[in-house]
Amino acid sequence: MPSRKFADGEVVMGRWPGSVLYYEVQVTSYDDVAHLYTVKYKDGTELALKESDIRSQSSFKHRKSQSSSSSPSRRSSSRSRSRSRSPGRPAKGRRRSASQSREHKEDKKKTIPESSIALPVFVLFKPSENNTKRYNGEPESTEKNATSCIILEQKLKPDVEIKRVLEQYSLRSRKDDKKKEEIYSEKKTFVAVKPIEKVSTKTKEMEFGGRIGTFMLILLLPATVFYLLLMCKQDDPSLLNLPPLPALESLWDWRVFGVIFLWFFLQAAFYLLPIGKVVEGLPLSSGRKLQYRINGFYAFILTAAAIGVLLYFEFELHYLYDHLMQFAVSAAAFSLALSIYLYVRSLKAPEEELAPGGNSGYFIYDFFTGHELNPRIGSFDLKYFCELRPGLIGWVVINLAMLLAEMKIHNLSVPSLSMILVNSFQLLYVVDALWNEEAVLTTMDITHDGFGFMLAFGDLVWVPFVYSLQAFYLVGHPTTITWPVAAAITVLNCIGYYIFRSANSQKNNFRRNPADPKLANLKFIPTATGKGLLVTGWWGFVRHPNYLGDIIMALAWSLPCGFNHILPYFYVIYFICLLVHREARDEHHCKQKYGLAWERYCQRVPYRIFPYIY
Ligand code: NDP
Repeated sequence: MPSRKFADGEVVMGRWPGSVLYYEVQVTSYDDVAHLYTVKYKDGTELALKESDIRSQSSFKHRKSQSSSSSPSRRSSSRSRSRSRSPGRPAKGRRRSASQSREHKEDKKKTIPESSIALPVFVLFKPSENNTKRYNGEPESTEKNATSCIILEQKLKPDVEIKRVLEQYSLRSRKDDKKKEEIYSEKKTFVAVKPIEKVSTKTKEMEFGGRIGTFMLILLLPATVFYLLLMCKQDDPSLLNLPPLPALESLWDWRVFGVIFLWFFLQAAFYLLPIGKVVEGLPLSSGRKLQYRINGFYAFILTAAAIGVLLYFEFELHYLYDHLMQFAVSAAAFSLALSIYLYVRSLKAPEEELAPGGNSGYFIYDFFTGHELNPRIGSFDLKYFCELRPGLIGWVVINLAMLLAEMKIHNLSVPSLSMILVNSFQLLYVVDALWNEEAVLTTMDITHDGFGFMLAFGDLVWVPFVYSLQAFYLVGHPTTITWPVAAAITVLNCIGYYIFRSANSQKNNFRRNPADPKLANLKFIPTATGKGLLVTGWWGFVRHPNYLGDIIMALAWSLPCGFNHILPYFYVIYFICLLVHREARDEHHCKQKYGLAWERYCQRVPYRIFPYIY
């Protein structure tokens, strides 16, 4: 009969079910029959754990979280101390010191509410490869995610869902029922501490088909753009009706490259304007929060004014239509140069600033997925800038150029109804993204993916030149639609937009402030990381309602082009593939982050994107 390893009253480290997080717990009893230890957390929660989920304290190096001290001043000093411990980086030093001192002041202003219960969270650190395996045998990327520093105010409610989850995880609340009610109605502040040891962020699980897959994508993505643009110029753009390849020298024009260059730097100048609020992003794995200026919408207005001035002076915007292929080639060259710069500079970036998914050690893979998470020049965040400005605003400008080209080529006094619909729907999408710019800070692109070829090419080439394909198609292939059809397509777009916007806002607001009174009617599953998973509202309908809305809109953008060719439907077909793949990636990350809580969520919300289908 196996003897028990831990004695009653002993303070040990207990693993939270389904995660790699360990908390300080006290052994209260041992069940000889079930071989389970009953352990008590600092907030009084009791849990039955197997011996394999318990470690001695000596297995961990830990720093006491501020919860062990209720003194706010001690808390803030400990935070700033650990920040200053990170390796000095001359280029970023200036940025950090300015923002840090601001954060530091804000920290000092914060106080822990009397009723706060803060659990000290201990994370597995990785002194060596061997130790990691000994602890849990889980992939290193899991540990990386688990070390994220989360500061979250979570108002828990005694609702059925939470009780169910507690039962599922064999959590037992405090013995005293009265006290139990208090726990779930009081405001809790969970504060996760930073790992005291630098965690290796090496990527073990490669996505996109690994090295071969990413190599192929580096060749295939530009080839696809050129194929689509060539096809669109054909009178009969059937899939098998391959166009003759243009002469190489006809693809390059320095004047066009100059325009691309100017465009990028004009948008960069708008980004740097000191207008619009400055907000903090989500905490990085180091616990630091980067600051971002929200002025994308202003940049759009300024660009619209600049285009208006050009048109007033009779600048021929359909120049863009005439040289679209050359613009795409120049933008691709620019994005390639940017990707090389990003990769070279990432080699000097400290480990903690590398992207969780782009640090495999293989050049091609890291070059494609992006090695550095948030490359910045001073306060200029390159990834955040490229995500929404040059490409997205460029897309609208290309669409407008197509509209003008259609009017000119077909001698129209007003654009066709199809062209108006395509332009309006896509304008709404871009304006929405810029108006809600802050929401991009919680997306996978910002929080997980590094900045490399994938995003540089995607943002600067794929989005403006592939997403404008319907408008480009309509110039060469006029399509007439009736008003009732136009109305039906408009309704479809509105439905898609409504789902997309409300789902994204719901999640974004919940992540930013779970205690938001507007979200009071929503239920969520608590997770060991402190973040909750919404199980009612849009996120209780399907697991990615925002993707569903986006796909519905994509269909509405293609329908005005009629059914003569599949080319204008390329976007919706590609987009479904992209979002299905993206959804699978996200699920994988969420499973690693939330463990059993994610499984519970999946049981509760069985469909991923399309209700009753997928
Ligand atoms: P999402 O905005 O869908 O975010 C996914 C994250 O949300 C998860 O990693 C998780 O992060 C959190 N989450 C998941 N489930 C829940 C839940 N039940 N409750 C609360 N939080 C949850 O990811 P994307 O970045 O992929 O998409 C953002 C938007 O951009 C979407 O609308 C998408 O359609 C659009 N998009 C558009 C593209 C285009 O080319 N037009 C391309 C890609 C995306 P955590 O728990 O860590 O917060």
